Amino acid sequence: MNTSIFRIVPLATEVAEAARRAVSTGASDHALITADSPRSCPCRHCLSWAQPGERVILFPYAAIPSGHPYCEMGPIFVHAEKCERYSATYEYPTDFRNGRVFRGYDAKYNIIQAEVLNGREPELIIQEFFENPETAFVDVRSVTHGCFTFRIQRA
Ligand SMILES: [Zn+2]
Repeated sequence: MNTSIFRIVPLATEVAEAARRAVSTGASDHALITADSPRSCPCRHCLSWAQPGERVILFPYAAIPSGHPYCEMGPIFVHAEKCERYSATYEYPTDFRNGRVFRGYDAKYNIIQAEVLNGREPELIIQEFFENPETAFVDVRSVTHGCFTFRIQRA
């Protein structure tokens, strides 16, 4: 039994599988590319960086659904080959302990707080955000590119 106050929510396996099918049929909004540096293509399914030479699919994903002022669709990567969905969901993924921005949302998908990681421990920021009873979930994004990386829910 663990006492973590949060749960990491990696991209659903169905979404990764759909992207793999779409790229195989030549969908114009799904690009198959090869990672060329160790920290350029984070896979949202296994929550680790694709290694140079590994193939990834780049495609648009609506982290915040349409019909809301903060709706957001943006590009994400998944491994082109099958990978294992991140399963240590009570632990913050080690590959993303820097270069991230945290956005806290309420239950209506409004951003109510935001903070750049900036050398702080992610667990502390998560704890602070969830101390606000209005915070329904926290989205972690790239601080440079702005791309959605993963979601964090209350445990
Ligand atoms: Zn992966």
